[in-house]
Amino acid sequence: MYEFELTTQQQLLKEAIHSLGQSVIRPQSLGWDRAKDIDQGFLRNFYTMSSALRGSDNPLEDFNEGPKVRDPKRISNTNRTAAVGAEEMAWADAAIMLSLPGPGLGAPPIRNSGTPEQKERYFSIFRDMSEQLRWGAYGLTEPGAGSDVAGIRTSCVRDGTHWVLNGRKCFITNGGRASWVVIFATVDPSLGRAGHRAFVVERGTPGFSVGKIEDKMGLCANETAELVLEDCRVPADALLGGESAYQSKEGFMTAMKTFDNTRPLVAAMACGIGRAAYEYATEFVKEHYLLGRPLPRYAAIAERLARMARRLEGARLSVWKAVSMADHGVPNAREASASKALAGQVATQVCIDAIEICGAHGTLREDHALLEKWFRDIKVYDIFEGTGQVQRIVVSRRLMEGLERF
Ligand SMILES: Cc1cc2nc3c(=O)[nH]c(=O)nc-3n(C[C@H](O)[C@H](O)[C@H](O)COP(=O)(O)OP(=O)(O)OC[C@H]3O[C@@H](n4cnc5c(N)ncnc54)[C@H](O)[C@@H]3O)c2cc1C
Repeated sequence: MYEFELTTQQQLLKEAIHSLGQSVIRPQSLGWDRAKDIDQGFLRNFYTMSSALRGSDNPLEDFNEGPKVRDPKRISNTNRTAAVGAEEMAWADAAIMLSLPGPGLGAPPIRNSGTPEQKERYFSIFRDMSEQLRWGAYGLTEPGAGSDVAGIRTSCVRDGTHWVLNGRKCFITNGGRASWVVIFATVDPSLGRAGHRAFVVERGTPGFSVGKIEDKMGLCANETAELVLEDCRVPADALLGGESAYQSKEGFMTAMKTFDNTRPLVAAMACGIGRAAYEYATEFVKEHYLLGRPLPRYAAIAERLARMARRLEGARLSVWKAVSMADHGVPNAREASASKALAGQVATQVCIDAIEICGAHGTLREDHALLEKWFRDIKVYDIFEGTGQVQRIVVSRRLMEGLERF
């Protein structure tokens, strides 16, 4: 059922990103990391090139396709291709990957729950970005609700033809530059998940503002913002899916469906960073140990490199399983969480191993010596979109409750 070979198109995509990563992105990575920003000219050129590679400049087509294709004759490759691209982009620079223009994490909830009019309205702004780059974002996390997403406190109150939103969202990727953000709020915190509603709040809406931009340890070139909603009035048609969609726990399910699609991609990025560190350490060992160092020490390091490669391969296979299931229309909640938990942990350990193998050299902050940057970047992959700990709880719950068999 699941393919391990890449299609010709996926192979070409991987090679194109690899070559761009090697020749253009990596030489500028540390500069962008220090500047905590990415050159907009680069992003514009990259956008133009990737549109050509995708063979489509119609974002509605891309974002609307959706991963859950139920017709077995119409098996999609969308998720698998996205995972291949995400791994390679993160191999080049994960902060750039997260900063690419487009709806980002905001796409899945709109794709899964938006009305046709909402899809047209919010996706069409990405149709032509030749003059101006645009981003979408996803606002779920709050100061008091991270892993426990059911505990969000941002309130939404219906007032005639509008809703009034009050609250704070934090750690929102591309939140400050986004043209719109999918904001999760609650009509009544005591209702838990059943009280959740998802709105698309557009930049410039009165009462909607950007708070502080976080100064992070890693992924520094990517913007992470706080968003503030103070008596923010949004029209009723900004409620994702319309009123009828919330007869059940739909608001919360919208959030969760997003993660089933995106956790494997986050895991793929972790694999990309881990692979970069592994390759760096391998090259370092080839240069420094083969000729001049005693054999026992080299053998121990070679065994360590082999273990890093094995673990990375296992993590990548778990990603490919999760995305292939999505492409086949098979529910993949457990596999999505498992791939994220595994890849985050494996790649973090690989980065630690790589630094240790390279010794003091591994800690240098020099152009072309990106190991310490990958070490800083990787940590968040075991935190955002649900921490590794929480993913392991999700997996064990599904197994213990007999929802699924291993
Ligand atoms: C760079 C970055 C980008 C982000 N982008 C976005 C974004 O675009 N949109 C968005 O909405 N959010 C975003 N986030 C937020 C991210 O999803 C949260 O940080 C994450 O869900 C964890 O929440 P928390 O930080 O509040 O930690 P907490 O939930 O407070 O967890 C703290 C610790 O407690 C553990 N823990 C929590 N619950 C349990 C439990 N039940 N059992 C055992 N251990 C538990 C966790 O594993 C963790 O170790 C981003 C975060 C970062 C760092």
